[in-house]
Amino acid sequence: MTYSYTQISQYLRCPRSYRYRYLDGWREKDTRAAMVFGRCFETALGAYFLGDDPTAVLFKEWGAFRDAPFEYRKGDSWDRLVHQGVHLLQKFAQDDRVQVLNPRENLQVKLLRTLPGNNEFVSYIDALGMLDGKECLIDWKATTSRYTEEPHSLLTLDPQLICYSWISGIPEVALVVFVRKQQPEIQYLKTSISEEQRREFGRLIETTVSQVETGQFPSHSGIRFPQNGCVSCSHLGLCLNDQRLIDINLIRRPGASDLDWLDELSD
Ligand code: SF4
Repeated sequence: MTYSYTQISQYLRCPRSYRYRYLDGWREKDTRAAMVFGRCFETALGAYFLGDDPTAVLFKEWGAFRDAPFEYRKGDSWDRLVHQGVHLLQKFAQDDRVQVLNPRENLQVKLLRTLPGNNEFVSYIDALGMLDGKECLIDWKATTSRYTEEPHSLLTLDPQLICYSWISGIPEVALVVFVRKQQPEIQYLKTSISEEQRREFGRLIETTVSQVETGQFPSHSGIRFPQNGCVSCSHLGLCLNDQRLIDINLIRRPGASDLDWLDELSD
């Protein structure tokens, strides 16, 4: 069995939801415009590092979805997303704070780690490069609101960065956050993950995998702040036995998808 960060984090959020998605095959329909746009934007970023025209690539990739029946958040539209994307790509080039040498090798880097019991863990690292001249592992994020930067060192608690540091053994990590808002902004956030954090994450993975393999899928339900996970859970219809919600949100495709990592760009 191959595990990914998305799988582990879904199990930790709600084991029942994990079972619905990875064992029963209930996946969220690809109707969220922001998620699909995030994939197109990431392809355009790759084009930037390869020396191609990222704006043209963004128009081409996102253009394929011009008439797709997406759900847009309030105030969003196909045009608005593409304009924000172009603005962010231009700003990223002007800032010129990120370098990726040998982009064909150092973008979307696949890393594998063997786990006990014939299992493995896979991650696709967005980039291995330099931020402000310092070598680090880089993760891109596309979001509609800024990441919280205070208190100092908060980023050391980001589980995805800890996961990537664990699988790569690289302590220096960074998030480049593309914030789609009225005045698009890019946050360049960097931190160091300690050896102890990597060890602890390794233990968390092993415990989680063992719970999956022994069939432990209790629901971690919650509808009140701060544990209101059910409110935004795509599997809510299954838990409530509500066919209308199931039809709106889900599609059944048996088996886990090896494209899970694609979900990780957008929040
Ligand atoms: S609706 Fe709640 S209990 Fe059901 S799978 Fe989602 S998070 Fe878990």
